[in-house]
Amino acid sequence: MLAVYTDMTPENEFGPCPPGEFARLSQSLRARKSRRAMLRSVAAVAACGAAGTLLWQWFGSEGELEANYAGIRCSRVRALAAAYLRGELAQAQQQQIKLHVAQCERCRQLLQSMGARS
Ligand SMILES: [Zn+2]
Repeated sequence: MLAVYTDMTPENEFGPCPPGEFARLSQSLRARKSRRAMLRSVAAVAACGAAGTLLWQWFGSEGELEANYAGIRCSRVRALAAAYLRGELAQAQQQQIKLHVAQCERCRQLLQSMGARS
């Protein structure tokens, strides 16, 4: 009984497989290296993303003032401003923007400055 147990020691299980050991080690080392490179690129991307988010928040500070008057947002009014001033929009949309501008100081100023320019 005891003899059987000693034959089943872990050493006997792990002993007879050293040939592929080096290849496996170098492979795992290489994998670790490429993983580190990947981590570095991921970090770079994350840094870029953080910078982008900061920029976006900075430029997007207008977003706080993005009011929704008359069911239309400032960004939409800005996008349609030129067409609005040329009277190219559908009647309902012209009316919507007119109502928005009546309540929104920023867009009013924008339209005034655009109107003055053209
Ligand atoms: Zn507005």
